[in-house]
Amino acid sequence: MQIYKNNSLHLYNTTSGKKELFSPISDGNVGMYVCGPTVYSNVHLGNVRTFMSFDVIYRYLLHLGYNVRYVRNITDAGHLTDDGDVENDRFVKQSKLEKLEPMEIVQKYTVDFHKVLQEFNFLEPTIEPTATGHIIEQIELTQKMIADGFAYESNGSVYFNVLEYNKKGMNYGELSNRNVEELFANTRDLDGQSEKKNPQDFALWKNASPAHIMRWNSPWGAGFPGWHLECTAMSTKYLGENFDIHGGGMDLKFPHHECEIAQAKASFGHSPVNYWMHTNMLTMNGLRMSKSTGNYVLPMELIGGNNPFFEKSFSANVIRFCFLQAHYRSVLDISNDAMVAAEKGFNRLMEGIALLDKLVASSTSTLSIQNWKEQCYKAMNDDFNTPILIANLFEGVKYINLVNDKKETLTVDDIAILKETLNAFVFDVLGIKNVKSSSNNTDKLTGVVEMLITMRDEARANKNWALSDEIRDKLAATGVILKDGKDGTSFSI
Ligand code: AMP
Ligand code: ZN
Repeated sequence: MQIYKNNSLHLYNTTSGKKELFSPISDGNVGMYVCGPTVYSNVHLGNVRTFMSFDVIYRYLLHLGYNVRYVRNITDAGHLTDDGDVENDRFVKQSKLEKLEPMEIVQKYTVDFHKVLQEFNFLEPTIEPTATGHIIEQIELTQKMIADGFAYESNGSVYFNVLEYNKKGMNYGELSNRNVEELFANTRDLDGQSEKKNPQDFALWKNASPAHIMRWNSPWGAGFPGWHLECTAMSTKYLGENFDIHGGGMDLKFPHHECEIAQAKASFGHSPVNYWMHTNMLTMNGLRMSKSTGNYVLPMELIGGNNPFFEKSFSANVIRFCFLQAHYRSVLDISNDAMVAAEKGFNRLMEGIALLDKLVASSTSTLSIQNWKEQCYKAMNDDFNTPILIANLFEGVKYINLVNDKKETLTVDDIAILKETLNAFVFDVLGIKNVKSSSNNTDKLTGVVEMLITMRDEARANKNWALSDEIRDKLAATGVILKDGKDGTSFSI
């Protein structure tokens, strides 16, 4: 269904600072790039919030009927540590700490990231490229920028020349509204002052000594790519030199996204992105969630209940619901109280949905379901306003209860619209995992195991011990343990 044809989705563009009517470059198709995680440690709930915001944006675009190419990268190389130690990118540093190969670090935390996403019912991006898989593309872009006078080599490293870029009529700082003079005054030189012409120049390629394990050959000697370059290389490779949406957390606006714009303009002569979207931060008990301050909770620690900040465990569905009760551009603060309140709300929503199948239709409707449905779309079309959408979904639950209590009436057709719309927004768009369908799966599994127990009883009655043992052993191998007792066979999963 191509709902987008009669729809007016507006989204907030960081570039203009305004909500703009969304108009993709190619009718019906959307190209979206989101900066992925740096996989040198576990993702925390703050990271999850940002990725979840884009998961919902992706889900809504799909719901509207767009064909979306969604690229979210994995940063697995070239990320300098906060102290700017050129011999240590984050992977090398972590590999020393954990006594693992850097690529083992990458693998370990990529697997963790994917597990977390699965737990929270994220849709997979259509392409998930890695920085290490695109070294050639990054070298080629760097060569082009040197050839065109935007970058220079120095001591085996290559830097983007910010002043030269501005001299050629472009404006470094356009996204984050900074000017070069201000940057000049404020830049701490972490990359080795002596190599750069100006402190605000940023690295496209860094030279690396033999001791630096993650390094690749290049025309400038062995080294590794600068972090900003990978996103320019991968976004433009898969989405074209000009694409629709680029997203990330607002802390990436500067310098990361600013550098991406400069690299793309220098390489292709025009701005790469039509809509820049930035998510706001997750805070916990009033402080920004971050690994470096220790104010963080890992997703599995909240789900499992083993953390010092929360009194009990919360399901992935409740955490998702809690996150989406705030608009993606607002700060969201989580605390024990906020989570408990979200859990109550979530249960109320689920109870309402469970009642839907029990509603009895009437010949007339006393409620305007069509108007309610339009309000749901209106909320999402207004820059993906999930808190307003959720308020509308609760209005839907109110209708369900009123009809169930025979205080209002709905026709068969209106009940069908109410059901279809609630299911679409709750499960497809907000991405709540449909517990009903997974408990269906548990019922199915129970049915299958019981059938196998009956077959095994028959085999034992026929003294076919080989078959009876085979059934028991094969079930055990899949984690289903049979226990024979005097009242028959029971099982545990
Ligand atoms: P990183 O792996 O550090 O590059 O972070 C991955 C994504 O998580 C980026 O888009 C960051 O902006 C985002 N992020 C980091 N901390 C938070 C936070 N406390 N709240 C929301 N997003 C965050
Ligand atoms: Zn990026």
